[in-house]
Amino acid sequence: MGQLTGPSDPSADAHWHPHEDRRGFFTDTSICIGCKACEVACKEWNHNPRDGDLEFTGMSYDNSVSLGASTWRHVAFIEQDADRIEQARTSGAELVSLGMPQIRGAEAGAPVAEPADLTPPDTPEFRWLMSSDVCKHCTHAGCLDVCPTGAMMRTEFGTVVVQADVCNGCGTCVAGCPFGVVERRSDGTVAPTTREGERKGEQPEVPNRGIAQKCTLCYDRLRDDQTPACAQTCPTTSISFGTREDMVEKAHERVAQLHAEGMTEARLYGANPNDGVGGTGSVFLLLDEPEVYGLPPDPRVCTADLPSMYRRAGVAVAGMVAAAAVSFLGSRTGRGGRR
Ligand code: SF4
Ligand code: SF4
Ligand code: SF4
Repeated sequence: MGQLTGPSDPSADAHWHPHEDRRGFFTDTSICIGCKACEVACKEWNHNPRDGDLEFTGMSYDNSVSLGASTWRHVAFIEQDADRIEQARTSGAELVSLGMPQIRGAEAGAPVAEPADLTPPDTPEFRWLMSSDVCKHCTHAGCLDVCPTGAMMRTEFGTVVVQADVCNGCGTCVAGCPFGVVERRSDGTVAPTTREGERKGEQPEVPNRGIAQKCTLCYDRLRDDQTPACAQTCPTTSISFGTREDMVEKAHERVAQLHAEGMTEARLYGANPNDGVGGTGSVFLLLDEPEVYGLPPDPRVCTADLPSMYRRAGVAVAGMVAAAAVSFLGSRTGRGGRR
């Protein structure tokens, strides 16, 4: 196990020498239209079955509800009224503290000929937020850190995949993921393995033991220098794929553009390497607080505190040894004095 917290190169931590550039997604929710083509493309490519009988949930027009063992991409639908949009705009402005909207109407770096436009942008009466969620491929991945069999693997692209034929279905990774991404299968099917030489339809049947499943960031496609199926399919380019470095740069440019247009509610998620998981391979642009999308506001890898726990345990053990030694020596001194 390599470094447990903070900015890091996960492939190097996993002893890939040399390794590929770290790959990742930039999901720009501001241009997602909720078509769910990404969700379908993922199922199709990975031979994942549909969820249930396509019934309405009574909660939303979204019928697949959440990420799961068969849904490795999930497009969430969130309906918002004008009050909620205004709250999102205000909280975003406080968060980024950019002094917006003074930049509106002025080109960056150019002298401002006219007074800045201080009119806030229109707040629509109603809007849908659409967000295509996926495994975050964390820099410090709780699922991988806690997996007792080594079924969770860090790839040469810095992504995290489950090796279906190694997973014993214990479910420890399910509790280890701070985003609720991993789920155990209950239908006995197995996703295509990505190990050398094994391709779809060629892998042996795996017994129904509830193996853990999640997005592989299309490891099989990456190895063939192809774009992941979801990003390839997205008609609006809401899902971009590339090196993580490029994705983070693109995300920062896009959020700055939206702020300049007065959309102060735009914010990035997963781009900060100093967050509780060391940043994520899947970076998102959100238009409201993470909780609104069902994302934890301050995710933290469950193994982050291991070093301090071991230190405290070490101090406790040293204290107990010292106490035992003092007690032993004291008793010998006492016996020597009585002789
Ligand atoms: S989001 Fe969860 S499942 Fe995905 S890499 Fe991070 S800890 Fe693992
Ligand atoms: S990268 Fe591949 S496995 Fe992951 S969500 Fe996209 S299509 Fe599915
Ligand atoms: S395919 Fe693109 S636009 Fe359609 S739901 Fe997915 S992310 Fe949104």
